[in-house]
Amino acid sequence: MRQMPLFPVTVVGSLPRPQSLLEAMTLARQGRISPEEMETQIESAVEAAIRLQEECGVDVVSDGEQARPDFYSFVADRVDGLRLMSLEDLAGHVEDRSFFERFLADLDVPTAGVRLPVVVAPLRRRNSLAVGELRRARRFTGKPIKVALPGPYLLTCSAWVQALSSVSYPDQEALGRDVVALLRQELEDLGEAGCEFVQFDEPMLADVAFAEPEECGNLLRAALSRRVDPDGELAFAVDLINRVVEGFDSLRTGLHVCRGHCVEKDKIHLRGSYDRLLPHFARMKIRQFVLEYASEKEDTLEALATLPANQEIGLGVLNPRTAEMEPVETVVSKTRRLARAVGPGRVFLNPDCGFEAFANRPVNTTSGAAAKLRVLALAAERLRRSFADP
Ligand SMILES: [Zn+2]
Repeated sequence: MRQMPLFPVTVVGSLPRPQSLLEAMTLARQGRISPEEMETQIESAVEAAIRLQEECGVDVVSDGEQARPDFYSFVADRVDGLRLMSLEDLAGHVEDRSFFERFLADLDVPTAGVRLPVVVAPLRRRNSLAVGELRRARRFTGKPIKVALPGPYLLTCSAWVQALSSVSYPDQEALGRDVVALLRQELEDLGEAGCEFVQFDEPMLADVAFAEPEECGNLLRAALSRRVDPDGELAFAVDLINRVVEGFDSLRTGLHVCRGHCVEKDKIHLRGSYDRLLPHFARMKIRQFVLEYASEKEDTLEALATLPANQEIGLGVLNPRTAEMEPVETVVSKTRRLARAVGPGRVFLNPDCGFEAFANRPVNTTSGAAAKLRVLALAAERLRRSFADP
């Protein structure tokens, strides 16, 4: 792992996609654009996303997830055994249809374009999930690159729908074994290809930890149409994650847990602090937890000191969904509080979440995202000065 400055600035993953790329994605779905032409569009979007991050002072960059329709469903293109299904299609197969339908009705986003990968046959990795993305991004930057992947708990729990999946896998434990093998292979390939930071996205952990049974969680909970024992589920998640990362000590591994930023209305964002998750985080062999602290949960910052000393925090200090800018002083003082509690060498700075987890559903503009990233870089500069010469 490369030496980093104190308070490295990074992103959670996605950045707004240019209109030309969104149009090309639509054409690609209709089979009206050649793969070469599509690749040209993606390359220019990735180059722009990386240039933007470099200009804003981001230390660990991503490709902005420009090639993905969203942070998760792209795996169906690269793994046999997964079928993309619309929520309407899924409604006919889920165990608790009335819950599912109430959930759909309560969402304030159009669900028509959303498709989730569902296991319909044994999984087989046809292509690497992200090595191609990493290599493409590497052509445009010499900086360390972060690659985000859907986490093993998300893949296991939201892709397993009894009516469709149990022929291949009797239960989620059985599916989990193949998901772990798939992600271990991916880590190995990404490490060999020079990736320096792999982040697993596990938004469902927030649902499991925070949601009341009657509360509608984020989109992905829809497929988890069953009431669960939160502690049992969290123990299952810890086990899956540890089996994936075991032995990959030379890679910086991260786990991103947030409460869903794909929609603007606050009413369906789950509330609750991370405190309930911290004992589970402490048992994970994960290097960095990428968490949202831009709002509400500031009071739990010091609780992060309960994490083992070899674990880092990717501190979310900006709300990616808002137009107003967080003052640099606020970011500095919040980060300083955490750095005093856990040590300055354990803190990265990032927004709470991606800027466009779902293509076509940006939560900010490109210039808004850039302005927010500049706030992070300015804050990091001040923090570096103050911790170098306290
Ligand atoms: Zn997020």
